[in-house]
Amino acid sequence: MSARAGIVVTGTEILGGRVQDRNGPWMAERLREMGVETAHIVVVGDRPEDMTSSLRFLAEEGVGLICTSGGLGPTADDMTAAVVADFQGRQMYLDEALEAEIAEILKPLLKRWPTLDHDAVRESNRKQAIVPTGATILAPVGTAPGLVVPPTQAQQPTVVVLPGPPSELQRMWQSAVATDAFRAAIVGATEYRQEMIRLFGVPESELAATLRAIGDEGVDLNQIEVTTCMRRGELEIVSRYEPEDKAIYAALEAGLRSHHGLALFSDDGSTIDEQVAALLLSSPERSGQAPHTIAVAESCTAGLLSARLTEIPGASAYVLGGLIVYSNAAKIALAGVEPSLLESHGAVSVEVAVALAQGAISRLNAEIGVGITGIAGPGGATPTRPVGRICLCVAQRDGGQVVRVIDMPGDRGTIRDRSTTVAMHMIRRLLTGEVDAWDSAGVDSSDAPNR
Ligand code: ATP
Ligand code: MG
Repeated sequence: MSARAGIVVTGTEILGGRVQDRNGPWMAERLREMGVETAHIVVVGDRPEDMTSSLRFLAEEGVGLICTSGGLGPTADDMTAAVVADFQGRQMYLDEALEAEIAEILKPLLKRWPTLDHDAVRESNRKQAIVPTGATILAPVGTAPGLVVPPTQAQQPTVVVLPGPPSELQRMWQSAVATDAFRAAIVGATEYRQEMIRLFGVPESELAATLRAIGDEGVDLNQIEVTTCMRRGELEIVSRYEPEDKAIYAALEAGLRSHHGLALFSDDGSTIDEQVAALLLSSPERSGQAPHTIAVAESCTAGLLSARLTEIPGASAYVLGGLIVYSNAAKIALAGVEPSLLESHGAVSVEVAVALAQGAISRLNAEIGVGITGIAGPGGATPTRPVGRICLCVAQRDGGQVVRVIDMPGDRGTIRDRSTTVAMHMIRRLLTGEVDAWDSAGVDSSDAPNR
């Protein structure tokens, strides 16, 4: 990729973490789709000297394009246009046509708020119409116009100036991309392909060994960019490559498949949630039939799996609901768990997880039931039942079931969230029939916490 860009995100509220940056990553992703690599995303407060030094830094890094977000508003702390003009060695001038355009936009606002100080509004309107000479003006989406400001010297970057509110920035993006100055700044961009593979139940260290092995088998991984990231208990492997290297990517994918078998559950970027939804809506052996209905009985996750299932589009077709059975009394009263079972095996046991899954099926007349019981926090832990011990069962009314006992590291939030991920994978495995020793083994306390 020979075209490189830098991004400057402005805003003291973003620097301080009060507002999370949604513009930097969004623009980086759009640039990547065009074959432009983002070298840096710099976040600065609303101080002109800091903005200037970040622009200088990126120019010294040799980027051809800099995109900025924020600081285009009418208030005194919005100074991006002036800073960029100065950086590019350009004067500012009042663009009267633009001033009139903004005045038009403000008319309905002034009507709705008759008490507004019209002079003050006109003043700030005028401020937003003062722009650098030679800049291409991007029509306002809110009241602030965007700018594409070309350099006045060779080898300097073009600067694209966009407003801070993410919806405004996103709506203005296409018109920025369409300008000649933007196009000229990204000459040499090569189109990259990006693919994502997801694994479940493989720790990062094991993947590193696999990648080395695949390299030793003769696949030239240096030709493509492979990054891995553990997220929500799953390993995401993102590969970027030029179209001519697609055979290398295919060899990588084949290698991952042969090393990790069932652990590789997604080769098209689809998430486990999407896959579970598709399976519930139509599993292969029942195409054309009504969706599988599912119900949940949750102890330690207290409704989080139900929530996760209902967040998937189309959920109303198959999610019946869930029982939150935190206490033993609730397990007995709501899910119909036998008191003797709780007494003999304890609430955190495979037996009770199975009884919860069966209870969810019978109480809600579901086809598939999920039971989760475990110890997500310090209360209730014992030496034989440590924090992080989670027992899960996914059962089918007229079919099989899978069970799992896991010792998971992490705090309560992590343990609960990972438990829902494990449950999602168990649902998938039951419905696809891709079941192996993983699905019925004893306690797994290996450092692969997600298996
Ligand atoms: P305005 O005319 O609204 O002042 P502006 O271009 O001057 O627009 P800012 O003042 O920097 O933009 O930001 C306006 C609002 O947009 C901020 O209060 C913030 O909520 C949101 N915002 C700005 N930048 C970002 C960002 N990078 N990520 C998410 N939200 C942002
Ligand atoms: Mg502002």
